[in-house]
Amino acid sequence: MDTHLIPQRLGQLNDITYGKTSNILTRATGFIEAYDYSLNPYSGCAFGCTYCYAAFFSRSPYHRDNWGYWVRVKENAAENLNRKLHRNRRCLDGKRIYMSSVTDPYQPLERKLGLTRAVLEVLAGKTATAETTHYHKPRPKLVVQTRGPDVVRDLDLYQTIVENGGNAQINMTVTTDDESVRHTFEPKCPGNQRRLEAITEVASSGISTCITLTPLLWLHNPTRFAEQLVSTGVGRFVSQAFHFNRGRFVAMTRDDALNLMAQKLGCDLASLPREYLRRYHAWRHTLALCIGDYGLTLEEGKAGFEPPF
Ligand code: SF4
Repeated sequence: MDTHLIPQRLGQLNDITYGKTSNILTRATGFIEAYDYSLNPYSGCAFGCTYCYAAFFSRSPYHRDNWGYWVRVKENAAENLNRKLHRNRRCLDGKRIYMSSVTDPYQPLERKLGLTRAVLEVLAGKTATAETTHYHKPRPKLVVQTRGPDVVRDLDLYQTIVENGGNAQINMTVTTDDESVRHTFEPKCPGNQRRLEAITEVASSGISTCITLTPLLWLHNPTRFAEQLVSTGVGRFVSQAFHFNRGRFVAMTRDDALNLMAQKLGCDLASLPREYLRRYHAWRHTLALCIGDYGLTLEEGKAGFEPPF
């Protein structure tokens, strides 16, 4: 990566740093323990969702408190992965990889840097050198988690991964049917409509898809929303409620979102879990029934995030 061409700031992102990673694949644990590895081309995330659990895994109070305003770029992410494959061409075959657990691989900076795309090129076996005549293409089982419509840019690479004998599923997160609620809780994220259009395009390309309603914030009209979800052509749905307590491996919903939700529901923080969960279960019940009419299932929580292949 040419350090003269890389931004130090981008919009509200005022702290972009560049560094090298010694291992781009991290052994997956906790919520995503069904995977072999998590793969994060960046740490930190410019989308800065008010409820983001990943903020709890930041390396310092500064990074936690300024979540959404800093990103660390792992500038050698693709090279590091490529080196592993050069040592053992089959090392990713059948390995379940979750991209990403502490960042969004399609946050705005990706448009400038193409780092996620460079990683995907490696996973798609596009980096073979001339001398590797009998080159073995990697066959990972890849699940990509994003709120970024830019994921459609890389459809060619997801298709190549599948053609090579691997698997790919794109998970798109949509947390509400109400754009004003989306704007309150996720002011720096792309709008709902753009996300739904993007995942519709992915689904129609033949790549596996999932819509993750995580966390489910608020539904204005669950019945109509269910129909909107089904009309995307996506075959898998997962919901999840706020986390009110921090577990050993599960981070809590951030205070920003808890305060906003208490305001939205007109209750105090003490009664928030009861007030929120009552609505969550009612929304989920209606969604599950409506989606079920189409022969589809609304999964929930950790089990819903498990790789389908
Ligand atoms: S997009 Fe994901 S990683 Fe980024 S702030 Fe939102 S929840 Fe966190």
